[in-house]
Amino acid sequence: MPSTQIPPAVVFSDWDGTITSLDSNDYLTDSLGFGREERERMNEEMISQRLNFRDAFTLMLESINHPFSDCIDLLKSKIPLDPGFKSFYAWCKSQGIPVIVVSSGMKPIIKALLLNYLNDPSAADELEIYANDTEFAEDGSWKIKWRHPESGFGHDKSITIKKYISDAAYPEGKRPHFFYCGDGVSDLSAARETDLLFAKKGKDLVTYCEREGVPYTTFEDFQDIWNGVRDVVEGKKTIEEVRQAKK
Ligand SMILES: [Mg+2]
Repeated sequence: MPSTQIPPAVVFSDWDGTITSLDSNDYLTDSLGFGREERERMNEEMISQRLNFRDAFTLMLESINHPFSDCIDLLKSKIPLDPGFKSFYAWCKSQGIPVIVVSSGMKPIIKALLLNYLNDPSAADELEIYANDTEFAEDGSWKIKWRHPESGFGHDKSITIKKYISDAAYPEGKRPHFFYCGDGVSDLSAARETDLLFAKKGKDLVTYCEREGVPYTTFEDFQDIWNGVRDVVEGKKTIEEVRQAKK
């Protein structure tokens, strides 16, 4: 890779509850599936590591007996985009900084929401997405197709991030700064893979990082992430200074 093509940074990001303000799968489970109470009970089990994400998420999705297109329509009307994301993404494009979605959700849902938010098919196609897929049966039913079915995460984000970085084959000493942004249990597999982890304030990922001693900084929306990434890229702050700045 010629040095001119090495980006100053690469931003990996969770989708649900991070690029979107609400988690689309939680929303579907609460409104069309077994409901909030049971989902929150399962979440506790996941945080305590008595139940893995893949198995909990499978149960959540199996409780949603509605056509996939109805789910998409509902989500389009109910799930807002993070208020700072559009500006952040436009800035990243202007700086040659790739934004890579690394999600434990399903790609067809992400694609549909992204197109709805950006209202521009070519802009929506530019965003690189690594997620699980959806399998459709002839009777119209659907189920998740895991990216890493052997992993308790279903999609082991650490594998995806490590492969992205090794495939890029950055020359020695010239690698970009790597960032990860996330909010929940599905991000635990990614939490240690980058130089700086942005964990959403008040969410499960913060609880996990505190308990496990994983270094992180917090964010409320993508404006905070933008400020942090820009300060590092422009050399105004070190990664450590950004990490320490907000807790
Ligand atoms: Mg999330």
